[in-house]
Amino acid sequence: MSGGDTFLSVRDIWKTYAIPHGGGSRPVLRGLDFCLERGEMAGLVGESGSGKSTLARLLLGLEPPDSGTVLLEGQPLRQWRARGGRLSVVFQDYMTSVNPGFTLAEVVDEGLGPGCRLSRRERRREVDRLLERVGLSPLLSGRLPHELSGGQVQRACIARALAVQPQVLLMDEPTSALDPISTSKIEELATNLKEQYTIIIVTHNMQQALRISDKTAFFLLGELIEYDDTQTLFYQPKEKRTEDYITGRFG
Ligand code: ADP
Ligand code: MG
Repeated sequence: MSGGDTFLSVRDIWKTYAIPHGGGSRPVLRGLDFCLERGEMAGLVGESGSGKSTLARLLLGLEPPDSGTVLLEGQPLRQWRARGGRLSVVFQDYMTSVNPGFTLAEVVDEGLGPGCRLSRRERRREVDRLLERVGLSPLLSGRLPHELSGGQVQRACIARALAVQPQVLLMDEPTSALDPISTSKIEELATNLKEQYTIIIVTHNMQQALRISDKTAFFLLGELIEYDDTQTLFYQPKEKRTEDYITGRFG
């Protein structure tokens, strides 16, 4: 695939939602601009309700923006997808994103999809490889979600997301429902996956972005307040509102 230097470019995105019962409308994203190079990890940080998941849905192509464009490798999202571009997602709520009756292997296998050309045996081997890629033993492959820890189920969701060989991995609050140990393991995994994928991680936790992401975008009420290298944003924020969020003076 060809394209400019910038891998992902989000340009002047606006999104407005109607408020129910004739309450008018409200902009949820207000002129967002940011870009990301291949192989980088960006943290999208902001309080609840700041528009992070809305941006994630737009990036996934699940809904269109009112105006503005998302370019991947210089092409509009739809065109990029039509040419084989793939973007995978991992959600916060891992338990509702897996079928409770599926074994670990079936959860991951689902990601390979019905059109997969592999033989049954190759498919099984690929599932094992994906499980190992996310640090899960194939010995666990017969277990059901409720027989696993939250961190293990979330890893299976990541393995399922990797099954399509995405160029971009988008994780929306992947550790918000996890304990600290599982969280640090997922962070370690994300750091490791960065060698192979371009990653966007949505989080309300600035410390998490500081630990793992190369770049960080700070959102407030649908506005991108500041976007910079994570270290610069964290230690030398240019905006008072970013500094207030970092030092916990919000809310
Ligand atoms: P975040 O992920 O940062 O918590 P969201 O993107 O989920 O924020 O939501 C941003 C704002 O948009 C919230 O105020 C939310 O209530 C509103 N919102 C999100 N989705 C919809 C929708 N489909 N219809 C109306 N309002 C929505
Ligand atoms: Mg959200």
